[in-house]
Amino acid sequence: MTITAEAMTITAKDERALLARVPTGLFIGGKWRDASDGGTFNVEDPSTGEVLLKIADATPADGEAALAAAAAAQRDWARTAPRFRAEILRTAFEAVTARADDFALLMTLEMGKPLAEARGEVAYGAEFLRWFSEETARIAGRFSTAPDGNSRLLVTKRPVGPCLFITPWNFPLAMATRKIAPAIAAGCTMVLKPAGLTPLTALLFAEVLQESGLPAGVLNVVQTTSPGAVTGPLIKDARLRKLSFTGSTGVGRRLIKDAADQVLRVSMELGGNAPFLVFEDADIDKAVDGAMLAKMRNGGEACTAANRILVHESVAEEFTAKLIDRMGAHTVARGTEPASKIGPLVDEGTRTKVHELVTDALDVGATLALGGQSVDGLGYFYEPTVLTNVPPHARIMHEEVFGPVAPIATFATEAEAIQLANDTEFGLVAYAFTRDLYRGFRLSEELEVGMFGLNTGIVSNPAAPFGGVKQSGIGREGGLEGIDEYLETRYVGIADPFGDA
Ligand code: NAP
Repeated sequence: MTITAEAMTITAKDERALLARVPTGLFIGGKWRDASDGGTFNVEDPSTGEVLLKIADATPADGEAALAAAAAAQRDWARTAPRFRAEILRTAFEAVTARADDFALLMTLEMGKPLAEARGEVAYGAEFLRWFSEETARIAGRFSTAPDGNSRLLVTKRPVGPCLFITPWNFPLAMATRKIAPAIAAGCTMVLKPAGLTPLTALLFAEVLQESGLPAGVLNVVQTTSPGAVTGPLIKDARLRKLSFTGSTGVGRRLIKDAADQVLRVSMELGGNAPFLVFEDADIDKAVDGAMLAKMRNGGEACTAANRILVHESVAEEFTAKLIDRMGAHTVARGTEPASKIGPLVDEGTRTKVHELVTDALDVGATLALGGQSVDGLGYFYEPTVLTNVPPHARIMHEEVFGPVAPIATFATEAEAIQLANDTEFGLVAYAFTRDLYRGFRLSEELEVGMFGLNTGIVSNPAAPFGGVKQSGIGREGGLEGIDEYLETRYVGIADPFGDA
């Protein structure tokens, strides 16, 4: 297989050879095994609908076995030296990087994104392994004398304990490594339930971790077509100490309720509906570059996608014309095609929802400036679409559109822009383009979000805390903060060594 930036030539034989190397079992207690009832399910290529692989379909009993393996491994794992855990992460980083072509092609096959994007995700996803390998040795506490001098205060950090991870299909590698790497660094064991549509990347990654020296039971993987039935009992099981979920706000809300029963620690990386503000003093070409990144990265199937493009009325015409040119030039094709800039949507349900939101916007008065239709033929392709004059009450301004659709509306004042931007239950990320740095800082304080991109269309960075406010979630992944999600604070009170008692 040859994949270079200049020429990407993937043959059907290359694809088959890669698929033949992907494990197809459940990974429990360091062993690959079939489902307890022998059940399997098919993973399909969204660009053709063809079956890629048939893999084991975990039952509730398999989920229970995975948690039992994680719980059994927890004590010894928590006692390992930080450097030991760091070296495993570093070895895994090197291995994923060395096998970047395999991981990229596998993600393109099961999820649909173009190979160039998949390679970007491999670099991004692998970086969590390197970042947290470096953080492993920096877990620290503190020691102080109590203000009254009568005791000493020792504060330490302990691993939370066995975790359950539930991840989405849109970034099959990075959404897993963003949880697994800090958990390994902190000394937690875990059960991973990857998305049913894209479990293959997680299976290959589990094998890489195993080959990198991860002890049996630390990571267990249970892909399944019954996510509620397999993970529900684990969330109610007292051996589980933490749930970290990335996915839709609806499912997240339900999981938080379930987690309340045993007051489980939760991290929730949920939906977004990012505003993208273009002010009258912006560099319009840079704003268009930023909008292309923020909107079209991952074909629009990203929680960080710019879904409400709000442009000052004085520059709306120029910005819109340039964005239409750029969006219209994108080639829609299977992700393995060298020219592909947009692959298929992940399934028919996603495509139907995208079209429903476009149709609703047009019904309530928006103008169709580009695209607006499914692409005929095999796979779930949808045309790059631009909508203008989108009214504030259109569904697309309130519901996440997971596709290549750019809805544009205008504003007259900064106050109106902020009001429109904050008019949502979501608070993951916002973007703004302006040359006025005072305005930039004002926005950074006024916008109700966990992340803010100022004159940039991308904020994701393993060294930065990723996460949202409002109904976009609880907790942060990545950065210095990312490891805290997997650590408990323990305080030890020590008698005054110079006192009587
Ligand atoms: P989803 O439908 O909520 O699914 C996410 C995960 O939850 C999948 O593994 C899914 O399994 C599982 N799941 C579904 N129902 C469940 C249940 N009752 N109990 C336990 N697990 C259950 O979301 P998605 O469509 O895969 O992903 C897209 C969403 O993720 C978007 O809303 C996006 O904004 C969000 N997202 C957020 C971030 C962030 O960091 N904030 C990052 C990426 C994506 P199945 O696959 O088997 O259904």
